[in-house]
Amino acid sequence: MVAIAPSSSPRLTPLPEISRVAMISVHTSPLSALGGPDAGGLTVYVLSLAEQLARTGVEVDIFTRRFDAETPDVVELAPGIRVLTVTAGPAEKLHKDDLYCILPTFASEVATYVVESGRRYDIIHTHYWLSGWVGRILKRYWDVPVVHMYHTLAHLKNDATPGQPIESPLRLRVERELIGAVDQIVAPNPDERAELVWRLGAKNCQVCTLPPGIDLQIFHPANVSQARANLNLPDAPIVLFVGRIDPIKDIHTLLAAMADLICNCEADNLPYLAIVGGELDDDGRPIGSLGTVVTKAEALGIQDQIIYLGSRPQSELPEIYSAATVVAVSSRYESFGLVAVEAMACGTPVVATRVGGMRFTVEEGVSGLLVPPADPTAMSRALNEVIGNRSLRSAMQVGARQAAIRFSWHTVGAAMLRMYERLAAGERGESPCYDTIYAS
Ligand code: UDP
Repeated sequence: MVAIAPSSSPRLTPLPEISRVAMISVHTSPLSALGGPDAGGLTVYVLSLAEQLARTGVEVDIFTRRFDAETPDVVELAPGIRVLTVTAGPAEKLHKDDLYCILPTFASEVATYVVESGRRYDIIHTHYWLSGWVGRILKRYWDVPVVHMYHTLAHLKNDATPGQPIESPLRLRVERELIGAVDQIVAPNPDERAELVWRLGAKNCQVCTLPPGIDLQIFHPANVSQARANLNLPDAPIVLFVGRIDPIKDIHTLLAAMADLICNCEADNLPYLAIVGGELDDDGRPIGSLGTVVTKAEALGIQDQIIYLGSRPQSELPEIYSAATVVAVSSRYESFGLVAVEAMACGTPVVATRVGGMRFTVEEGVSGLLVPPADPTAMSRALNEVIGNRSLRSAMQVGARQAAIRFSWHTVGAAMLRMYERLAAGERGESPCYDTIYAS
């Protein structure tokens, strides 16, 4: 639970005001469509934090890499929020590990722009290891504090996929090096804080634990029948998956769980799995990474029970979450697990794997059920419990919304701004976020 307690030592001098923040998001642009291979929680996080800061009068410049020829150099997303697309390397999509070679160019292009424009920043906030590397160079040029968020840690991703490490030794090395190079690190949950301190050697006072925020004005419950009618969804139990189609999301375990669930259901009330994320062609047929989902669903004989909704703008998601009976998050590893909290905010119970941030956001039996990762039988049982037990489901619908309220951007954004102010005031020895507690 997030609680703001009074700070332990009264300040005698006012904190400096933050007027402008440079956000660095090299590999994913806030202008990209969400639900694609590289645009998920990180992009949502960067945009939402920028919006929250802009509401309080802080200007935010988000620097990202150019991967096409068309995007203008500067896009004003909203008053006070600009996206600056920097040319570094070819103007095309590159694999994340190949982006490492262009980081020096990216950093010097940002620095050149800043010299020419005469803009100054109070804080550099970097997202993901590639941007952290850039932040450390910019810190040398500008001499301002760097706040870094890993978003995911390579060694935790590798731990989650034993026998087939998916993250490179290069990333592992850079993530470790960043500890000594940045001023403050934001961990999304207490477990990752412990990892950063005990496994990567961060100082206790260097790590702030701040959960993800969500916009409760956008994510709120809608009328279920109306939502289903609008979306053309059947009047049957609907399990919903929302996210990138990426091995770490382990949608194949969810498909196997669905096959088990369908096998044990009455023929006249078979559940459906609705999938948001991935690409559809002009005729609505799954393409790209969704192709593997189709193949697996066919092999399991459940293809008729799958509804592919494709990637959707976030503005459409509250209605989709509200239309679902239950939202399933089958990930092997989830640093934030924004989808789980968004679903909860819409009053939809969640069945999630007991990993990462979801151990702290999903309250067992109150807002959903937690199951071990990579365990289709456990997931199928939990889905069956939520779908079949009407009174449990009704209680969870209420519990879910209440549980999500704790993660409002108002709370999280205010804590982040306070941390920026303390860093700008030169506070380092004592954690600049000691008044923000995130406990389960
Ligand atoms: N999302 C979206 N449209 C889609 C698929 C996903 O807007 O078609 C958003 C979703 O609302 C959530 C984010 O992408 O905010 C995914 O975040 P999460 O933390 O669950 O996963 P990540 O992508 O960070 O692994």
